[in-house]
Amino acid sequence: MTRRPMMAANWKMNKTIREAQEYTAALLPRAADSEDVDVVVCVPFTCLHEVGRMAGDSTVIAGAQNFYHEDSGAYTGEVSAPMLLDVEAGAVIVGHSERREVFGETDDMVARKAKRAVEAGILPIVCVGETKEERDAGDMWEKVSGQVGQVLEELEDAGGESLVFAYEPIWAIGTGDTATPEDAQDAIGKIRDLLRETQGDDFAASVRILYGGSVKPENAAEIMAQEGIDGALVGGASLEVESFVELIGAAQNAVAQTEQ
Ligand code: PEP
Repeated sequence: MTRRPMMAANWKMNKTIREAQEYTAALLPRAADSEDVDVVVCVPFTCLHEVGRMAGDSTVIAGAQNFYHEDSGAYTGEVSAPMLLDVEAGAVIVGHSERREVFGETDDMVARKAKRAVEAGILPIVCVGETKEERDAGDMWEKVSGQVGQVLEELEDAGGESLVFAYEPIWAIGTGDTATPEDAQDAIGKIRDLLRETQGDDFAASVRILYGGSVKPENAAEIMAQEGIDGALVGGASLEVESFVELIGAAQNAVAQTEQ
């Protein structure tokens, strides 16, 4: 089974609507060439409607960075799946380490969000990853397998193509410290083995697993060349259109090389 590579931008808490318009207008004609790569731009809620409107039927998918698993009610400050569908969001980041560490999201909350997104037909990009202390203590897999396992328990009979995992070691996010391609491949290989053991071969073969953590144009080709790494979730280097377009190009080249 061939999985379609994905290059996903995470703008985090950056850009006004005007800046988002400028970025999207510059991105759309350049991303149109990347027919073999899914391009996702996860933007602040305030920009989502506009980026989604501008992207229209193009190959670029507008995504959110978070949502709440209930559909409506007394949840001040939250945004629900029907609200994301209202602005035609096609994807949502779930369980980013900043949500877990700064806002106290638990594995259970993340799993419920992943389930609700799948039910709503919004592609969740579920982030998992360990801290530096956990890695140094040899606990990387205990942490990551727990995070992945809880999501799988909630999902029941969802198909593998209905969600994406992103392995994002916390010590590599926004720090300039990238995991070595071998370490990234090792962790992603273990995640896929777990998917195979618990959900079966078809599910494991169809789930896309991205790497995230200081991906930039200089290291993207090496990361994308690793077998089993289906793309990247990119923070800092996605904020400028030029560097994000280079990253999309790296994913496109990786596809071209596997086809040779
Ligand atoms: C992220 O925000 O998910 C991320 C990986 O950030 P950065 O690329 O800046 O490390």
